Amino acid sequence: MSQTAHYTILGPIDAEIIFVSTKKSILFVRMEIKTPMKKSESNKLDKLWREKVKERDEHKCRVCGSTSYVNAHHVVGRRNHQVRWILDNGIALCSGCHTFKTRSAHQDPQWFINWWESTYPERTKKVSELKNRLDKPDYDKLLEYLTFL
Ligand SMILES: [Zn+2]
Repeated sequence: MSQTAHYTILGPIDAEIIFVSTKKSILFVRMEIKTPMKKSESNKLDKLWREKVKERDEHKCRVCGSTSYVNAHHVVGRRNHQVRWILDNGIALCSGCHTFKTRSAHQDPQWFINWWESTYPERTKKVSELKNRLDKPDYDKLLEYLTFL
């Protein structure tokens, strides 16, 4: 599971207070590591997310229209938790368009991204806005969002 670190600068602190031996000021930098979501929580969200993506896409591959072996693909990879459970970051693909064809999301990611961006410009915009946020994804809100969609 990925962790994102962000840095909070607490400001210049008089070093004399902290380190009696030096007169220099220092910048105290605190590193805050995000607590990873519990495995059971992320599994539950993953399952819901896959169901909702396929439901929205009518259980059809959005590239070729096939209805067999349809998977929910993450456009921006699952390691990015800001968009991992956002429907706009998902797309239903058959196993061929997902993985097996030469021209598939996994074998030709550049082709896939170009196709996705030109097919879904609104989703592209939303996902790129969300993916770089630094706040922690809220498990309860995501669950609510995916459940009552
Ligand atoms: Zn397909």
